[in-house]
This record gives sequence, structure tokens and C-alpha cells, in this order.
Amino acid sequence: MTCLECSKKLSVLDYNSSVDSLGVELCPHHKKRIEDLMEQKGTSLEAVQLYYGLKRAGVAAMLDWWDGKKSIDIAISRVKLNILIDSKYHMMTHEQAINNLEETMHSFKNGFTTIRIPHFLIQHYLKETVNNIIGIMEGLKANVKVI
Ligand SMILES: [Zn+2]
Repeated sequence: MTCLECSKKLSVLDYNSSVDSLGVELCPHHKKRIEDLMEQKGTSLEAVQLYYGLKRAGVAAMLDWWDGKKSIDIAISRVKLNILIDSKYHMMTHEQAINNLEETMHSFKNGFTTIRIPHFLIQHYLKETVNNIIGIMEGLKANVKVI
């Protein structure tokens, strides 16, 4: 049992406290840092869990990255992939849907791929979600080579 961020060995108490509240294993220092981020920037628990799910799989991502205009839940800069987590997926209005599509269009024009993942997928299918993101990254890398 080690901290996912700094690899420090965790006591049973610290491990349980972190896994119970965040669902990821972090030392007290890094747990506090994530909790502060969630409180100050409104980072969702699902974003934190996906970030560490990717980290476990060896993918270096950025959590709650500011792109100059808006905050991106997870950004994987190496392949210019932005991941947005939809927290209110079932309550989307027409206006939100067209705004999302426009956002996706603008990011494509800037060379970025944006994918949206409903929060419940991370809660129930984290491993599969991570595997699919890795597949998307491989596809993006292959496309870059062709160009
Ligand atoms: Zn740590």
C-alpha cells in the first residue's frame, strides 16, 4: 500500500481513510491536496478517480487543467486529448448539447480531441473507461504519425 502520487508507504489507517473518502490510495499530504482542489475548484470525485486510474495504468495526465478559457477535467497533452466529465448527463438541455458540440468543434480546429464521459461510467466501469482512453490515445498517436 503506497501513495499513488509519491509512492510513500501508507499505514492501514491512512490507506482506509483515503480509500473511504476518495476511492484512491493517497498519503495524508496528497489526500489533503486533492481535497483542497475539490473544495476550491469544484473538481469532481470522478475526475480525481479517473486521473488516478490513468496514473495507475502509466498515463501521465493533468487534473483540472486550465486551457486559457475553461477548465478541462483531464488533459493528456502528449496526444492533445481533453476529457470532460459530464455530471448531469441525464438532464442535458438542447442548448447545452449544442454548446458542447460547438466546444468540441473549436477544440478540433485547434488540434485537440475532446471526449465526454458520463460520471456514472467512472463510478461503475473505471477499468474499462481507462482501457478505452488508452485505445483512443493509441489511435491519436497513429494518426499523428500519418500526417
Ligand atoms: Zn503522497
